[in-house]
Amino acid sequence: MKASAFSYARATSVVNALELLATYGERAKILSGGQSLMPAMNLRLISPELIVDIGDLYDLRGIAVKDDILTIGALTRHVDILRSTEIAAHAPLLAEAIAHVAHPAIRNRGTVGGSLAHADPASELPACMVALNATVVVRGQTGERRIAAVDFFKGIYETALTAQELLIAVELPAAKKNSAHFFFEFARRRGDYAIAGLAAQAIVAAGMFTNLQLVFFAVGDRPVSVRAANKLINVAITPAVLWEASTVLGEELDPQDDQQASASMRRHLAKVLLARSASTLLGRPNLNAGGTA
Ligand SMILES: Cc1cc2nc3c(=O)[nH]c(=O)nc-3n(C[C@H](O)[C@H](O)[C@H](O)COP(=O)(O)OP(=O)(O)OC[C@H]3O[C@@H](n4cnc5c(N)ncnc54)[C@H](O)[C@@H]3O)c2cc1C
Repeated sequence: MKASAFSYARATSVVNALELLATYGERAKILSGGQSLMPAMNLRLISPELIVDIGDLYDLRGIAVKDDILTIGALTRHVDILRSTEIAAHAPLLAEAIAHVAHPAIRNRGTVGGSLAHADPASELPACMVALNATVVVRGQTGERRIAAVDFFKGIYETALTAQELLIAVELPAAKKNSAHFFFEFARRRGDYAIAGLAAQAIVAAGMFTNLQLVFFAVGDRPVSVRAANKLINVAITPAVLWEASTVLGEELDPQDDQQASASMRRHLAKVLLARSASTLLGRPNLNAGGTA
């Protein structure tokens, strides 16, 4: 199938893009890398009247570090994240996760802004942004809004962006001393969307977690930052403590059934990831041997 007929505008500036969005509202769609938009249009899941191509807005592409804040422009491609020394040094969770996003051809075109605005609950980057306490910067004709990543994702393909706004950048605090990260996803094949995945960021001191963010993806309608993590903070981690956290996790997750996996399988995989993350982050392989609740 091919997309319905549509008009095309190549934005000459952010101001120009915002003017077009203000005029067309819900009838327009931004085109970044096109790796999610074009398939959706070709399948006629969406049929926008106008495509606003922002590919020439080079100011929106790039990675910068200033005062311990890492700023990633919306048009920064997945491949730029993969190759960036700043990302490797200051946000190693992202560096690890990005290798699991699709395949090289898609990573060469797909952008960070596109991935966040698309808000697929099985995507890696939204979960990482929540785990890293990122702030999403969006701009409309009346000014800029800064939205905590945890509040940005509202549901399946739903975000806090309005049809008149452009996602400009994402800002993240640079990784602190003693911080550790964990990333893993279960997928049928490398590069496929995850069946269940976990992005975790922690501060470890004297063998304990003083801070822990566990953000699961592909197990809900958005990235799920779980309360079970609180069971593991400032306590000596034993198999019994892990078991309790795993029980809480099982109760708080509400995964979906689909053709890839049942809800109970997703819940089980999430528990496996919980144990594996604690064991890896603390450097205690034996913790991962006790099974799951
Ligand atoms: C075969 C295949 C496998 C894939 N596997 C994965 C995977 O495993 N994990 C994963 O995360 N992704 C996967 N993707 C999706 C890919 O990573 C996309 O590139 C990404 O989700 C969207 O980025 P994009 O730049 O291509 O956005 P586009 O496709 O251009 O846009 C996506 C949506 O976001 C909106 N948008 C884009 N940029 C902005 C902006 N700056 N401001 C406001 N709205 C904006 C668009 O209007 C559109 O609605 C896969 C894609 C394909 C085709």
